[in-house]
Amino acid sequence: MTATSGERLNNYLGGRWQPGQGPGTLLTDPVLGDALVRVDATGLDLPAGFEHARRAGGSALRALSYRERGALLAAVQATLQKHRDTYFALSLANSGTVAADTGIDVDGALYTLGVYARLGDTLGDRRHLIDGEPARLAKDPLFQSQHVQVPTRGLALLINAFNFPAWGLWAKAAPALLSGVPVVVKPATATAWVTQRMVQDVVEAGVLPPGALSVVCGSSAGLLDALQPFDVLAFTGSADTAATIRSHAAVAQRSVRTNIEADSVNSALLLPGEAPGSDSFEALVRDVVREMTQKSGQKCTAIRRILVPQAVYAQAAEALSARLAQVSVGNPRHSTVRMGSLVSRAQWQSVMQGIGELRSATRVLHDGHQGTWLVDADPAIASCVAPVLLGADDPDGQPLVHDKEVFGPVATLMPYRDTEHALALAERGQGSLAVSLFGADNAVLAGSAVRLAASHGRVHVVSPDVARLHTGHGTVMPQSLHGGPGRAGGGEELGGARALNFYHRRAAVQASTHVLTNLA
Ligand code: NAP
Repeated sequence: MTATSGERLNNYLGGRWQPGQGPGTLLTDPVLGDALVRVDATGLDLPAGFEHARRAGGSALRALSYRERGALLAAVQATLQKHRDTYFALSLANSGTVAADTGIDVDGALYTLGVYARLGDTLGDRRHLIDGEPARLAKDPLFQSQHVQVPTRGLALLINAFNFPAWGLWAKAAPALLSGVPVVVKPATATAWVTQRMVQDVVEAGVLPPGALSVVCGSSAGLLDALQPFDVLAFTGSADTAATIRSHAAVAQRSVRTNIEADSVNSALLLPGEAPGSDSFEALVRDVVREMTQKSGQKCTAIRRILVPQAVYAQAAEALSARLAQVSVGNPRHSTVRMGSLVSRAQWQSVMQGIGELRSATRVLHDGHQGTWLVDADPAIASCVAPVLLGADDPDGQPLVHDKEVFGPVATLMPYRDTEHALALAERGQGSLAVSLFGADNAVLAGSAVRLAASHGRVHVVSPDVARLHTGHGTVMPQSLHGGPGRAGGGEELGGARALNFYHRRAAVQASTHVLTNLA
């Protein structure tokens, strides 16, 4: 770390580094309470900065082929790789994460960049995409329609949540830049440091054309006002902020294309007939504990509801509680600590309040806040929360357990009667990012997956043959779609080449076949 406490993070906009003109917000270490850096975007000329990105960044990127843009992503990845240790140090200070959890963010970002760099190579020397086959429009087959996809001639404004300052940036920026669209990122204020440093490193390395990448740290005021019709907005955050964004004139009147990734009450489901000790039962217990505790439960994809057959409800509670009891919580600098802190005292407050609300509708099966549970930290300062497992004996009669997302190491176990009941309970999340199915009957797993595909962006199926090699319920792989319908925001990110659709405009070209053959 090179910042001294209270130093200001610069914004990079309009091709130059600019400090905010106000007092800004002081970021603090969520474990120790130490002052870190200030972030502020007051007084920036956002319309001028955005115009620079559109004109300079957009035209330079569009002049390149997909292969050349893929090479830019590989250069970004190599630049970030050189500074990987710095990002781990900043994350430790700013997010309070243990190294393994920082890895999910930072290494996840590097991996995602690599996947899109390779996709650029696959797409080759083109500058636009051909979409589907030509379709005959008239009796004479000579006149046809062919859809094309071209990079949008605006910028991509990326507004991110606090929990993934590294991956959150590059999971959006990689497909945007590969599409030929310049990026302005606005990280969540609480954890802006890693995002800002990554942009700084990439700008200083000079690997992207001028205007291709900008960062605005601090308040979101004015950002949406500066958007124009061909810009796109990719947002990740809470449902409340998403609602504000949807009603903004940029979206409601200027039709700025918007992708929303919001909150989600994801579930894991143990199919009937899986006894304690079976491969599927053990896999569920292992994965649920990992999902509850990774990043202290601050993952949008984390398992919040665990559905098990009534017959094994008690044994599942026992097995989960026994494993959760082994999770040591506290200062991530301490070698025995497995789970660090939440990102801020404000989040700590919100999670403790959320646990209180859920407790009113459930009973406590495991509460890690017992005895001297906190390692090497002051409970009055540190934003640490121990794992809490709750039980909803009557999940049909407790709407709160299906509606309330507590963004911490908290989940609710619930029993079901039969498969239909289990699937119906999973659907009560009203649209989720991810659901996991654990079982050994391939036909039932496939049938359940198709049924839940209507209400989930991703169905993660763990049968015994993949129990030790699957990628994990909560891990967002760039090859798979990320997003979910309904309360999850209705967005679609990643999914390999599908991610590029958002940053392209589709148009139909109706012409002679002789013209259409020239499109490619
Ligand atoms: P948040 O409070 O909604 O903030 C998200 C981002 O929006 C931040 O950068 C925030 O800036 C900005 N923002 C706030 N008000 C805004 C406005 N009026 N206009 C434009 N931008 C505005 O969410 P959060 O607390 O950071 O994140 C936690 C939530 O995100 C959880 O509910 C979680 O489920 C969800 N999440 C979803 C996904 C997903 O992929 N679906 C991933 C991660 C997190 P400031 O920080 O400056 O306020």
